[in-house]
Amino acid sequence: MKFTFVTLFENLISPYFKDSILKRAIENKKIEIDFKNPRDYTKNKHNKVDNYQAGGGAGLLMLPQPLCDLLDIVKKQNPQVHIIFPVPSAKPFRQIDAKRLAKKDHIVFVSGRYEGIDERVIEEYADEVFSIGDYVLTGGELASLVMSDAISRNIKGVLGNEDSLSEESFEDGALEAPSFTKPNIFKGSPIPSEFLKGNHAIICSLKKEMSGLKTKYFRPDLFLRNIKG
Ligand code: SAM
Repeated sequence: MKFTFVTLFENLISPYFKDSILKRAIENKKIEIDFKNPRDYTKNKHNKVDNYQAGGGAGLLMLPQPLCDLLDIVKKQNPQVHIIFPVPSAKPFRQIDAKRLAKKDHIVFVSGRYEGIDERVIEEYADEVFSIGDYVLTGGELASLVMSDAISRNIKGVLGNEDSLSEESFEDGALEAPSFTKPNIFKGSPIPSEFLKGNHAIICSLKKEMSGLKTKYFRPDLFLRNIKG
C-alpha cells in the first residue's frame, strides 16, 4: 500500500511513521509513504495557496489551482489512486472503512487547512470524504494520520499478531470486553476468577457477555444497530 499525503505541513505527519509498528511496516515494504506540497504547484507570484471566500465569511480557503494541478499529476502517474478528503461535515470513518480500504494499492489523503478547500475540488477529485469525529481540527493532517494508521494495521503482515484484529472493538459491531494482565490482584481489585481457570469456552462466553454489556452502556447506538441488524 502506498499512502500519498497532500499537505502544506509534511512535518506534522512524517514523524509518526518513524517509530513502532508503522516504521517496521515501511522497513518491511508493507507500506510506503510520500508527500506532495500544494505550494510547490502554485503559479502565482507569492506562491499563495489560499484566498478569501466568495461571498464573504470568516477565514480563507485553499485555492483550487495548486491542488488540482498536483492531483492531476498524481492521477496521471497512477489512474487507480483512491483519493480521500478528510472533511468534518462528511460521514464518519469507521473500522469497516479501514478494513475495506486496506485492500487498495494507493490512497491519497488531501489535508485541508484554513477554513477548508474550495468545494469544487472535492466534487471533482474525491473518491470518498470522511470525518474522524464531531469536532473541528485545525487541519486535515491528524485526520489523515488517524485513517492511514487504522488502515495500515489491517494490511496483511503489518501487525505481529493478526489474531488480535478479529478480537478487537467494532468487530461484529461491539466493543471489546475488558482485558486484564498481571498481577492477579491490583489495588485490591481481582481479575474475574474464571479468567484464571483456563477454561476457554467459559472465558469466551464471559467475554461475549461483558462485551455486550460494555457496548450497551458506552455505545447504545452500536448496541441498537446490532439488535436491528
Ligand atoms: N470550515 C470547515 C467546517 O466548518 O466544516 C472546517 C475547516 S477545518 C478548520 C480545516 C481542515 O481540517 C478541513 O478542511 C479538514 O481537512 C480538516 N478537518 C477538521 N476537522 C476534521 C474532522 N473532524 N474530520 C476530518 N477532517 C477534519
